[in-house]
Amino acid sequence: MSELRWNPLMGEWVATATHRQARTFLPPADFCPLCPTKPGGFPTEIPEATYDIVAFENRFPSLTPEPPAPAVEASELYPVRPGQGICEVIVYTENHNATLAQEPVEQIHQLVQVWTNRFRALQSAEFAKYIFIFENKGEAIGVTLHHPHGQIYAYPFVPPRILTELEQTRAHMDATGRCLLCDILAEERRDGQRIVAENDSFAAYIPFFARYPYEVHISSTRHLQALTDLSETEGRDLAAMLKTVLAAYDKLFNLSFPYMMVLHQRPTDGGDYGHYHFHIEFYPPLRTATKLKYLAGSETGAGMFINDTLAEEKAAELRALVAPVIWEKGGAR
Ligand SMILES: [Zn+2]
Ligand SMILES: [Zn+2]
Ligand SMILES: [Zn+2]
Repeated sequence: MSELRWNPLMGEWVATATHRQARTFLPPADFCPLCPTKPGGFPTEIPEATYDIVAFENRFPSLTPEPPAPAVEASELYPVRPGQGICEVIVYTENHNATLAQEPVEQIHQLVQVWTNRFRALQSAEFAKYIFIFENKGEAIGVTLHHPHGQIYAYPFVPPRILTELEQTRAHMDATGRCLLCDILAEERRDGQRIVAENDSFAAYIPFFARYPYEVHISSTRHLQALTDLSETEGRDLAAMLKTVLAAYDKLFNLSFPYMMVLHQRPTDGGDYGHYHFHIEFYPPLRTATKLKYLAGSETGAGMFINDTLAEEKAAELRALVAPVIWEKGGAR
């Protein structure tokens, strides 16, 4: 059903999950599995009549807590291991037609709290070495359900992109005694051209080295490693910064802006990651209102991205669309 196969050439695991072929693909709103079950209607994933935010295990997981033994035999060259892990779905609201960008900042703050609680809960699973929180949004990047939701994977290893960031931040710390992401944030602030928005605890910028035209990163001002390190005020400021960026995205082309959103936090394998620094990265596939950025030969085959735009210009576009975030309790921040 599901297993992890080792790629010795790249030094990374690949999950097979053939049962996922059967998963629900863009169902009509009446048959959305993430809407609450209606009286007398077909039973969805969510029995409650009303909910704010709910998290539950994915019905078509690529990793499961108690996986079956692999269906293929390992060899010396090709190690195989069970597809152990956890795949959760977080439904942001019961409103089928909403998007995170349209949610009130209070609701986004509640999502930050749910993320934090799930991170804390899932890291206690002995096999969970990395908790990956993310959202795929929009048909342009292949979502199979329109209902606003995100996902959490608990991996039984630290995934490759995180490993690379951990190595780079470790090397920078060893060489300079400073945090690489603190240094990046300081440089972006000094330069200023690529900053999209700032509040007391977070800054959003399109980094100097962006691979996608509208690739925004949100980084905490304070040096911290995970959601669980956020103070109450920082949690609120993160919600406000997410609202700011998402609202500006939607205004860009007057459409519900597709993106991948990923949270980069420390691993949960018990190691010391004081050199790492919590941040969020967005990879939107749109270059213009109608043109997608495709991952073609250079990006996919060589790993070198070609960005047709300048981060300085795209950041200025987004910055011009930034509006104050209104809290119903507590006014604008
Ligand atoms: Zn729905
Ligand atoms: Zn730092
Ligand atoms: Zn990162």
